[in-house]
Amino acid sequence: IPYQPSPNRYDEIPFRHCGDTGLQLPAIALGLWHNFGDDRPFQTQRDIARKAFDLGVFHFDLANNYGPPAGSAEENFSRILTKDLAPFRHELILSTKAGWNMWDGPYGFGGSRKYLLTSLDESLQRLGTDHVDIFYHHRPDPDTPVEESMLALHQAVTSGKALYAGISSYSAEATKEAAAIMRDLGTPLAIHQPSYSMLNRWIEEGKPSLLEAAAEEGMGVIGFSAMAQGILTDKYLNGVPEGSRLASGKVNEDFFTEETLDHVRALNDIAEGRGQTLAQMAVAWVLRDQGKVSLTTALIGASSVEQLEDTVKSVKNLDFTDEELSAIDEHAVN
Ligand code: NDP
Repeated sequence: IPYQPSPNRYDEIPFRHCGDTGLQLPAIALGLWHNFGDDRPFQTQRDIARKAFDLGVFHFDLANNYGPPAGSAEENFSRILTKDLAPFRHELILSTKAGWNMWDGPYGFGGSRKYLLTSLDESLQRLGTDHVDIFYHHRPDPDTPVEESMLALHQAVTSGKALYAGISSYSAEATKEAAAIMRDLGTPLAIHQPSYSMLNRWIEEGKPSLLEAAAEEGMGVIGFSAMAQGILTDKYLNGVPEGSRLASGKVNEDFFTEETLDHVRALNDIAEGRGQTLAQMAVAWVLRDQGKVSLTTALIGASSVEQLEDTVKSVKNLDFTDEELSAIDEHAVN
């Protein structure tokens, strides 16, 4: 029987305008970085993606190099489209990126026009779609003029291969520079994708901070790794379970010190006091009301349907008291 999504899918998770654009994103989006490569059972991937769409997670975030091997997450998502989601393609927001290492030689990474546009064509081939909704430059490239990278994003949009353009992990200063170039070109940058969690608050720092710079430029912000790759959940409180991302060596162990674990335990207690799991509080916290610098979306990962269901419940309580916020601040340290 063909997949039929839940008819209530737009009632579960709020969606918000991405900066000053007409693009609207669900407050929670699903990333396919680690759990959608050829090393994972396809049926699990398919179950996660279908559950996501049922729950109102209509934004799926990819990149050329997601796998392993690089490229396989896009190919596997293409199979999910073919089997289940293609009839709903017009409801989906799909993103991909180029910037990190993808193939050998000087055009397999960075920010050159040749790399970005060639990679986008290859991503579309792997995805089996004629366009993505958002195309990102995945990281700043100090060895390429930012004008060149931005011209490539502009061309991606004017050619119809992408509907919106974004940047990832650019500093506040580089963001302002890139935004000015894109505004002149006529393709305003719609979105910034930085890392952000209770253990990683760089986007709040500096004058302007990245959050302020993005707001000033009318860009939305989608923060990645709100659960610090799983460290901000209850899964490591009693040791490192087999098959977890930490056990498989995909998380830098330097992030996981006794000191960090003490903070995580304290944050877990605060979450319990709110009637949330730590995963839920970690996501709610990045989505909390910060006035005009509030995030648009939390971009999360999930290795099972159960994790996704748990995490998505975070939207049931996005409000924090001042007491809760200052208690969190004591333990939410970089
Ligand atoms: P998260 O911080 O959400 O970590 C996801 C991991 O946390 C899961 O794989 C799982 O670990 C664990 N987890 C998730 N939910 C739960 C839960 N409810 N209870 C217990 N454990 C849970 O984010 P990611 O690091 O996966 O990043 C999310 C997305 O952000 C990526 O897929 C990608 O799209 C994007 N990203 C972008 C980057 C960029 O440079 N622009 C860089 C990194 C990510 P386990 O697998 O061990 O079960």
